[in-house]
Amino acid sequence: MKLRGAVGCLMLMIGCSLLSIAQATMARATAPTEGGAPPPPLKVALSGKALQKFDQARSLALQYLAGKRCSTFLGGHGIATKDVAKALSSQQPQDGTASSISFAAAGIANVNLDPHSGDAIQTVFNNPAYLTMAVSQPRGAETYYNPLLLTRKVSYPYSNAVSVIHEALHNLTGDSDVALAQELGYNGFEPLGANVYLNDTLKKYCDSKR
Ligand SMILES: [Zn+2]
Repeated sequence: MKLRGAVGCLMLMIGCSLLSIAQATMARATAPTEGGAPPPPLKVALSGKALQKFDQARSLALQYLAGKRCSTFLGGHGIATKDVAKALSSQQPQDGTASSISFAAAGIANVNLDPHSGDAIQTVFNNPAYLTMAVSQPRGAETYYNPLLLTRKVSYPYSNAVSVIHEALHNLTGDSDVALAQELGYNGFEPLGANVYLNDTLKKYCDSKR
C-alpha cells in the first residue's frame, strides 16, 4: 500500500496529493460511528403499485408496438417494432428513488468520461431540482423508473405506455434521446428538445392499438 502510494507520487505529484486528500476524506466518511461497515449500494426492484402500473403499461405497449400505425412508422425509420417489443418484454424495472447503486456500477455511465458516474442513481430521482422520470441501461435490460410517474402522482403529458416504449428504445439501441429523435426526424441537437420530440412522436404513432 505504502509502496504503491510512493510510486504513484513519483509518477504524478498532483495526482498523488489529490489521491491523499480523497483517501483522507473517504477514511473520515466511512469511519464507523456505531460499528459495522456502511451499507452496500443497492439496486432495488420496482414493487407494489408502481410495479402493477408498469406491468399494465408494458402489456398495453406491446399491443401498440404490434399495431400497424406504430410498426409502419418505426419500421420506416429503421427500427423494427419486433425488436423493441423484445427489449420491452425482457426489461427489468427498478425503483429509481430507492436504488443507491452508482451509475457506473449500474452500467449506465462511462466511468472514464462522466464526472457523475460515481453518483448514486437515486440522487437524480430524489433531487427536486430535476424531475427524472426514468434512466435506462444502454444495450441492457434494466430501467430505473420514478414510481411517482407510473402511479401518476406527478403531472406528465405522456402515457406510461409511451414511457416504457421510450425506455425500451434506449435498452435496445443504446442511443441517447438526441440520436433516437434524429432517427425519427428531429433536426436539432438539444437533449430536452429531443426528449420532447421523441415522446411526441411515440404519442402520435405508438400510443394506441391502431
Ligand atoms: Zn430518453
